[in-house]
Amino acid sequence: MSVFEVLLEVQASDTAADQLRHRRATLAERAELAAAGTRAVEVQAKLAETKAQRAEVLARQAGVDAAIGTAGERIKEIEGRLYSGQVSATKDILAMTAEVESIKSRRSGLEDDLMATMEAEEPLAAEMAELEGVLAGLEADADRLRGLIADGEGVIDAELADVNCVREEQAARIPADLLATYEKLRARLRGEGAARVSGRSCSGCHLTLPAQEVERIKRAGPDDLVLCDQCGRILVH
Ligand SMILES: [Zn+2]
Repeated sequence: MSVFEVLLEVQASDTAADQLRHRRATLAERAELAAAGTRAVEVQAKLAETKAQRAEVLARQAGVDAAIGTAGERIKEIEGRLYSGQVSATKDILAMTAEVESIKSRRSGLEDDLMATMEAEEPLAAEMAELEGVLAGLEADADRLRGLIADGEGVIDAELADVNCVREEQAARIPADLLATYEKLRARLRGEGAARVSGRSCSGCHLTLPAQEVERIKRAGPDDLVLCDQCGRILVH
């Protein structure tokens, strides 16, 4: 086997390794994982917003609750004095009774407010629970996808190790300067540094070679380095 035929085998190994690396980088689960991450960020933002709204309602509820307590204390205090027998003037009794009524009426309004805050809090708590559930689901999805990615990478890495091992054996049979030329061309020409002459065309650039070029290739010895006039690849003839 000519050294150029071996070079084509190196090329085949390099192409296989490129394909494996591409497959590794573009595993379908990577896109799914990224989408789950984006969705989780959105849900977290919505959850933070809902939490803040609920905290606000709860703070309002605590304020109303405290005001109801204060009103109750005040009523108890006035009624205590009223029934103690120490207040005897009708005018004072009437004034104190009127104040109790007024506080009771204000307390009744506060109790309506309390009910309203409780009603407002309920759907917010339910929404939080729902969003937390969605988030947990997304996190479970992400874990599953990370597992699948790791498995996929493991399989590809094992294949890559095999390909690299074969490539090393092949490359060892090629003179260093030819291998260096090939690698330079491969880096420049989208991964393909060597191509076979197929009929009258170069299988690298797929262009038909001029007649005089075909003649030149025919006259070349098996160990002569011939480059494609059009793409510059090493022609295996
Ligand atoms: Zn070419």
